[in-house]
Amino acid sequence: MAGLLEAKTALVLGVANRWSLAYAIAQAFRREGARLALTYQGERQKATVEELGAELGAELVLGCDVTQESELEGLAAALKEALPQLDCVVHSIAFANREDLSRPFVETSRSGYLLAQEVSSYSLVAVARTVAPLMRQGGSILTLTYLGATRVVPNYNVMGVAKAALEAAVRYLASDLGPSNIRVNAISAGPVKTASARGVKDFIKVLDAVAERAPLRRNTDPAEVADTAVFLASDLGRGVTGNIIFVDAGFQVMGL
Ligand code: NAP
Repeated sequence: MAGLLEAKTALVLGVANRWSLAYAIAQAFRREGARLALTYQGERQKATVEELGAELGAELVLGCDVTQESELEGLAAALKEALPQLDCVVHSIAFANREDLSRPFVETSRSGYLLAQEVSSYSLVAVARTVAPLMRQGGSILTLTYLGATRVVPNYNVMGVAKAALEAAVRYLASDLGPSNIRVNAISAGPVKTASARGVKDFIKVLDAVAERAPLRRNTDPAEVADTAVFLASDLGRGVTGNIIFVDAGFQVMGL
């Protein structure tokens, strides 16, 4: 399977640590021969992501808070200067206030709702607008979503609503950018124990339910998510756009 991304350059947003889904994706992209650029959100993560970037052989490690238009513009300028072109972009970013992932959804504050939407959904639109001009030969943009977009998962709450908007954005972006041969898709990953997931109250119960009831009777391995990302980023995925692909040990097909 080696070399599927040979001669491609990928930007991966959302590596926080070794447990991040974005880290598994970046690893798989390198294995397949891609040139890599990574971003981190703020000074707090800088040293960690630079260290991971060095291990992965990333050519660029840049700061970018996706809620700041000026930082997105800075990212575009740095990419333009350092890389000949861009072929793949991974948006692996989400955030909601912890209290909104533990109390009843009906109690979600206006500011908490808007924050989750801005970071977890609108940012895909902003990132796509930023990177599309750099994807001169077309390419693949992908994001990460979760079943909580379409089903009620306890405590996922405001993030489920943000993921529903994210999935709709995938379809609209696919329609807008398709004529430029830029494909836009989402991977709906099964639950994985990461820093973000730990913010959801009783997340461990979700992991247990999946292991017990999913057709494959186990949880999702980040490497499985990463291999699907390779498929979508590579020429093997050239006919796929506007899709939500489940990598969840089959859990989403179960009624009970
Ligand atoms: P993670 O390692 O915590 O990654 C989330 C990333 O989002 C972090 O790198 C975080 O940076 C970044 N981020 C948050 N606000 C940002 C901002 N304003 N600007 C730039 N970056 C920002 O957790 P993860 O589970 O891998 O999450 C990655 C994606 O997968 C998310 O979209 C998540 O919803 C999705 N997903 C996760 C699961 C799961 O069970 N883990 C399942 C399905 C989908 P900081 O750490 O610096 O805040």
